[in-house]
Amino acid sequence: MFADLHLHTFFSDGTFTPEELVERASKLGFAAIALTDHDTVEGCERAAAACAAADMEFISGTELTAEHDDTEVHILAYFVDTQNQVLLTRIAEFQSVRQNRIREMVAALNRLGIPLKAETVFALANCKSPGRPHVARALVKEKLIGNLDEAFERYLKKGRPAWVPKTKMSALEGVELIHQAGGLAVMAHPGLNRTDEIIPDLVDAGLDGIECFHTKHSTAMAERYLEIAEKHGLLVTGGSDCHGFSKKAPLIGTVKLPYDHVQKLKDKAAEQKARTTNGHQ
Ligand code: AMP
Ligand code: FE
Ligand code: FE
Ligand code: ZN
Repeated sequence: MFADLHLHTFFSDGTFTPEELVERASKLGFAAIALTDHDTVEGCERAAAACAAADMEFISGTELTAEHDDTEVHILAYFVDTQNQVLLTRIAEFQSVRQNRIREMVAALNRLGIPLKAETVFALANCKSPGRPHVARALVKEKLIGNLDEAFERYLKKGRPAWVPKTKMSALEGVELIHQAGGLAVMAHPGLNRTDEIIPDLVDAGLDGIECFHTKHSTAMAERYLEIAEKHGLLVTGGSDCHGFSKKAPLIGTVKLPYDHVQKLKDKAAEQKARTTNGHQ
């Protein structure tokens, strides 16, 4: 039995609907999946319904863009209450940060003489959590650039002329936000964001787990993070970080997390919920 605990839909920068994603996961034989759209939990209800129909276990989640000591770190949330008002209010603020940033990126492109309209990006994104991939897709759609990679390389990557820094949540707040919503906080793809140095601080803040298995982690990296997990007593997670058809073939199916890790996550989430309900968190 396997799981994929890192998946995106069109509620952020993925291309699949929740139903399409679940159908693929089901065909691949997954026992459980988690939805981790950037800064939103909107897709969870539909994904949960589709999973129930497909007899697959569903874990509600999100992927928060955060920072600590000037290092960008993505924090995955699992088992959060998707109706939690504190969580919903805070992520809504970061959704509006994302929308304003789209306007700033488009303005920077316009200054470079590229006639892209913010409305084109918003229409294409059609979600509350738009990001750079939507700008890249709009540039391709309007034939203003050859392909998505080129869009990032020439304009959107950090340091390129249309890159705009994003106001981010502090990672310590992120961990707390997830906990108060009944969830577990997991550091996403540490090998991708190079966040090794901040692991101890996040562990002190109550980090629950670390994503050891990820499409962009080599086997050596996965082993390294398994050791780090062991050292700090962190739970182990993994997922494909599938964004649908954004770039190449969909990544779902490329990472298969053995189900016993999911069981350990469930056990800890249940423990934490029991503590919260007993009022001595
Ligand atoms: P944003 O949240 O707006 O900063 O965009 C980050 C998202 O862009 C990531 O979650 C990836 O989906 C995607 N991304 C980041 N870097 C690249 C890249 N070099 N090429 C393609 N997609 C990328
Ligand atoms: Fe993404
Ligand atoms: Fe990420
Ligand atoms: Zn992701």
